[in-house]
Amino acid sequence: MKRIAVLGGGESGAGAAVLAKVKGFDVFLSDMSPIKDKYKEWLDKWQIPYEEGHAHTEELILNADEVIKSPGIPLTAPLIVKLMKQGTPVISEIEFAGRYTNAKMICITGSNGKTTTTMMTYHILKEAGLNVGLAGNVGKSLALQVATEHFDYYVIELSSFQLDNMYDFKANVSVIMNITPDHLDRYDHEMQNYIDAKMRILQNQTEDDHFIFWNEDPIVTKEIAKRQPLQMKLIPFTGRTVKEMGHPLTPGAYIKDGKLVVDLADQMIDIDVDDLPLPGPHNLYNTMAATISAGLSGIKKEAIRKALMSFKGVEHRLEKCGNVDGVEYINDSKATNVNSCWYALMSMTKPTVLILGGKDKGNDYTEIEELVRERCTALVYMGLHNEKLHDFFDKMGKPVADALSMREALEKCRAFAKPGDTVLLSPCCASFDLFKSYEDRGDQMKAIVAEWQK
Ligand code: ADP
Repeated sequence: MKRIAVLGGGESGAGAAVLAKVKGFDVFLSDMSPIKDKYKEWLDKWQIPYEEGHAHTEELILNADEVIKSPGIPLTAPLIVKLMKQGTPVISEIEFAGRYTNAKMICITGSNGKTTTTMMTYHILKEAGLNVGLAGNVGKSLALQVATEHFDYYVIELSSFQLDNMYDFKANVSVIMNITPDHLDRYDHEMQNYIDAKMRILQNQTEDDHFIFWNEDPIVTKEIAKRQPLQMKLIPFTGRTVKEMGHPLTPGAYIKDGKLVVDLADQMIDIDVDDLPLPGPHNLYNTMAATISAGLSGIKKEAIRKALMSFKGVEHRLEKCGNVDGVEYINDSKATNVNSCWYALMSMTKPTVLILGGKDKGNDYTEIEELVRERCTALVYMGLHNEKLHDFFDKMGKPVADALSMREALEKCRAFAKPGDTVLLSPCCASFDLFKSYEDRGDQMKAIVAEWQK
């Protein structure tokens, strides 16, 4: 019997272990941290041996025929290096699960906009009546669904870490929203390594498959030119109008006479830009990518339009949390890199007090310098180490303050803001210095604003 070791006992690891067991492998799961009760219940139910809360027992892992690695474990972890050195294949949960399903795979990656686009695409497919599952970074693990359910389509959010260990998996539809610097600490501070990981979403695609991408992304377009000839069909989207471009994109998505137009081989879809469900230029791109994916899945324009109207957005992404003393509070806690904050600021129509800071992943703030100068009236730095923020922004001469908790940050914002202003949490950084997660950071903001509204 072939032996599979699974490293990491979270959603993806536990799901992979269940699928491996269902497929008749000898399975062992190991996690250096404590495993959540929910996942231990799965492991017990499926009689899968596991260890937790201490260093991996190497002899139980080095003897595996194949190892499934959770995306959180870096490729440089000593055990992973050892496994690769001895020639043991190390794969991702998605790679493993992909072997056991014939469902059509719509796979979405990018530095920003993955979750929103994934959720929107899933929402349209589901509302249109397709038998569709949601997997990857959002929803349940793909492996668990492949083991226990049957779907004709999956919409999958893929991070660069998942793509790192994907080899034979094929996306029927691949989407790259954009590529901007992120997670460079996990890629030897080499941008090209991160780009190459993202571009793996195209590997194995054939002429029957599609690749959707943002036509103005300098990195993605350069990679496309570099990788010619590409087998799959390319479908670009752009925020530019036909007038600006001098021609439409055929096939593709673009703006014409105030409408978002999607031109596909077998149908034209148009939606009034004013009717789109979410604000900001970035959400125009997200809607274009989701609409193209839905059109490629055979959904007609009326059904797409109707489904879009009922899409409510995703928590912690430019989420309105309330109005206090005439000041609107917006939670964009998921903005964990500089580019996503740029889009958040682009979506602001009122003078903005910005909360930023946290665990810096090697940020260069130049990208938001102009927008901060133009749109922000004050800045609150919320983090354990704010020196870099002081060095970069203080010279603008705006009021600034430091905060070591969400309450302190919001109180300082409240003092800075005037009626009609917006307070925006769009921190450019990860949350782990002061919070459990970005969700915790956003939830704390919402709870305090709700308390002030009482
Ligand atoms: P991801 O899953 O890639 O992190 P999300 O949909 O969760 O993306 O959005 C993360 C943040 O990025 C949000 O705070 C939002 O303001 C910003 N954002 C969303 N879509 C885009 C996009 N297409 N381009 C740039 N920024 C975006």
